[in-house]
Amino acid sequence: MNFAFSDEQELLRRTVRDFARSEVAPFAREWDREERFPKEVVPKLAAMGLLGIRIPEEYGGSAMDTTSYALTVEEIAKVDGSLALTVASHNGLGTGHILAFGSEAQKRRYLTKAATGEWLAAWALTEPGSGSDAASMATTARRDGDHWVLNGTKMFITQGSVGGFCVVLARSNPNASKQRGITAFVVEHGTDGFTASNHLLKLGCRSSDTAELKFENVRVADSARLGEVDHGFIDTLKILDRGRISIAAMALGLGRGALDMAIAYAKERSQFGRAIAEFQAIQWMLADSRTELDAAALLTYRAAALADAGALFSKEAAMAKLFASEAATRVCNRALQIHGGYGYTREFAVERHLRDAKLCEIGEGTSEVQRMVIAKHLLQ
Ligand SMILES: Cc1cc2nc3c(=O)[nH]c(=O)nc-3n(C[C@H](O)[C@H](O)[C@H](O)COP(=O)(O)OP(=O)(O)OC[C@H]3O[C@@H](n4cnc5c(N)ncnc54)[C@H](O)[C@@H]3O)c2cc1C
Repeated sequence: MNFAFSDEQELLRRTVRDFARSEVAPFAREWDREERFPKEVVPKLAAMGLLGIRIPEEYGGSAMDTTSYALTVEEIAKVDGSLALTVASHNGLGTGHILAFGSEAQKRRYLTKAATGEWLAAWALTEPGSGSDAASMATTARRDGDHWVLNGTKMFITQGSVGGFCVVLARSNPNASKQRGITAFVVEHGTDGFTASNHLLKLGCRSSDTAELKFENVRVADSARLGEVDHGFIDTLKILDRGRISIAAMALGLGRGALDMAIAYAKERSQFGRAIAEFQAIQWMLADSRTELDAAALLTYRAAALADAGALFSKEAAMAKLFASEAATRVCNRALQIHGGYGYTREFAVERHLRDAKLCEIGEGTSEVQRMVIAKHLLQ
């Protein structure tokens, strides 16, 4: 499909595709089975500039645009949703927050290490008691002279236990309105009172690191504050907008990967004396899937193009994420159906794609939350 990508974007897409096929696809099943974060891939991602996609060159990054970010995540997701999630969240959330709202000193310290892969970035908003209603968080930040003291628990944090630092949102002003009294901080692993545990067993994205973080009287200097006091949640909404484009791209890649597998299998598998691809029931599943994926692609690339043009893209990012993630689940489910009983085994990657795709309907705001965001834009 032609969406007027630049020569650089096309080259990036081909390069990441080759990398994903040779360095990721052969191992993705094993990583998933072992539920192990593949640390050995991190230097390879860094060498290709994929851990500093939007980070400016002066901090060691690749200085690429949001479309390049989406294309990268899509190509990796075609073969491995877990690694796509790692690349999406590292670039979009943890480093994205510092890029957008960090001080010069914070950018020098964290973005340089993030781009080289020395430190992976995590971003902690969700808590055991607050997910969709994220602003009702219970984690607190109490000012103590020129320091802050953090207390609370964060849940489901990607790269939470393998990352080098974490951007943490905490309530800094109990008297302000829900969204106004929250501040962001960057906390390094090894800081006293900060612990991470990746004990969660997940349906999919099993080789992506997902951790529970605890902050027990964690003392950080005011220089660890990210952005203005009490303004962290407002900043967070902007970070989530761009992040949602990457989850749409992840869904798109997972769906496209599953459809490719379904087409190949339908041509190979014979029943009733002919390839199952000759049955109209199978053809219609393939046709519906391709149509839905092209629609998802157009929504995703449109949101990325708007972001690159400096235009507003919050509604479009939510639409892309909503449609692409739900389409990906349908497409992966059909692809598994086309594989019959073999699709239900772990010998074929299609079941992993289905499990990984479901996450896209939940992470960075559920489908219900995306519909709330879109409707809010329509009605305001
Ligand atoms: C693998 C994984 C990785 C993640 N990574 C991160 C991360 O790196 N950082 C981070 O901060 N978070 C992360 N998350 C958390 C994720 O963003 C939340 O799980 C998600 O926002 C939903 O929150 P919840 O799980 O608390 O569900 P809840 O908010 O409890 O929702 C439960 C159900 O109720 C629905 N619901 C809630 N409110 C409404 C409403 N007003 N109207 C209609 N329906 C509603 C939801 O849509 C959902 O169906 C991750 C989650 C997973 C599973």
